[in-house]
Amino acid sequence: MNSEQLFEQAKKYTPGGVHSPVRSFKGLHTTPRFMKSAKGAFITDEENNEYIDFCMSFGPLILGHRDEQVAAKVHEAVDRGWSYGAAEKYSVDLASYIVERIPFIEQIRFMNSGTEAVMTAIRLARGATGKNKIIKFNGCYHGHMDQMLIKAGSGLAGEGEASSKGVTPSTAHDTVVCELGNLEQVRQVCDQSDDIAAIFIEPLPANNGLLPQTEAFLQGLRKICDEKGIILVFDEVISGFRMSFGGMSQVLGIDPDIVTYGKVIGGGFPVGAVAGKKKIMELLAPVGGVYQAGTLSANPVAMVAGLETLKKLDDKFYQDLQKNSDNIVAIFNEWLQSREDLKDFQIVQRGSLFWFLPGQDIPSDALHIPANLQERFKELFKVCLAKGVYLSPNGYEIAFVSSAHDENLQKELRARLWS
Ligand SMILES: *Cc1c(COP(=O)(O)O)cnc(C)c1O
Repeated sequence: MNSEQLFEQAKKYTPGGVHSPVRSFKGLHTTPRFMKSAKGAFITDEENNEYIDFCMSFGPLILGHRDEQVAAKVHEAVDRGWSYGAAEKYSVDLASYIVERIPFIEQIRFMNSGTEAVMTAIRLARGATGKNKIIKFNGCYHGHMDQMLIKAGSGLAGEGEASSKGVTPSTAHDTVVCELGNLEQVRQVCDQSDDIAAIFIEPLPANNGLLPQTEAFLQGLRKICDEKGIILVFDEVISGFRMSFGGMSQVLGIDPDIVTYGKVIGGGFPVGAVAGKKKIMELLAPVGGVYQAGTLSANPVAMVAGLETLKKLDDKFYQDLQKNSDNIVAIFNEWLQSREDLKDFQIVQRGSLFWFLPGQDIPSDALHIPANLQERFKELFKVCLAKGVYLSPNGYEIAFVSSAHDENLQKELRARLWS
């Protein structure tokens, strides 16, 4: 069966034919490619078309697809057994590897996704402070739990409104949505309410385009949290182990009280994590009274894959990754400028993350993202797909570079784009 036939089948058995909405290619005037295998920077669909992959599973695959050393360790792990529901050594290895290398964390708890990690961080922050409300920012994504599916309400610095059906008004009542970069607004909210438990932010917002924030803004959040006894949560599910081993926290030299990880931490297997100082982390059960659990948490195969991936991330790795990324962005820029139909695009890049943006002005909050983004992206996506270059299938999603996007791959990219 080809991709189109599979999509028809899938839609019969699954809502929209997919298990996560963005995979459906909605609004792109084409059906999703069904992928069957991948290696390095390449991904292959059911029709045997081989694409250069810039989606990279939306971030986890920092080593590219099917790294051989990771694969070998995963095979060994599977040969021992793949779930114990008991204490095991593999999570100790991964936990100690991470905690020993990131100065501001003393303990970590593993779970299965970024969503679970943020959900736990919310409960932990409330448990630690005895307060109820949380602040999040318009344009940051923190997973699909009720408390985060909230958009700004009508009033100034007002209460949130559900952005999804099925979220109760009382849940929305406890999440306040602020604008990225607007420290005054955050200060106002925190001055008006003594019930703010935590401020959640992606220190490099990368789920609604790429919206880099100033260091002054992020330092300002740290300061407000210190003054008011509010927990600062950095959601580093994308930026963790990618912008540096210690993520944006390390790049900026700002210590959050709680950090959440996902994506790279499992190397492509389902792992999420909450980490922080022992004083906060030991509020979690079984030591403390904040409940959290998981049948498949710290799955031994995923732990081994995560550890083997993280072991490769030394200084040299990040230097090479930056070089790959700079070269790839330069190639795309040159190509975009060479084409009448795509000349209006520019690229926003931070490290190994980049975003195709139509128009001249680079937005730093969600309000200033051009309204024609998705319309323009549709064109770009179509042209790239036809040339064997696979982008994340939505204009608001960013592109990911891995160590497999090396010099040879860059030559291949150039050949494909100008073909
Ligand atoms: C992907 C992501 C999540 C959600 O992680 P899942 O594993 O998809 O549940 C949360 N926060 C950020 C910043 C993310 O990028």
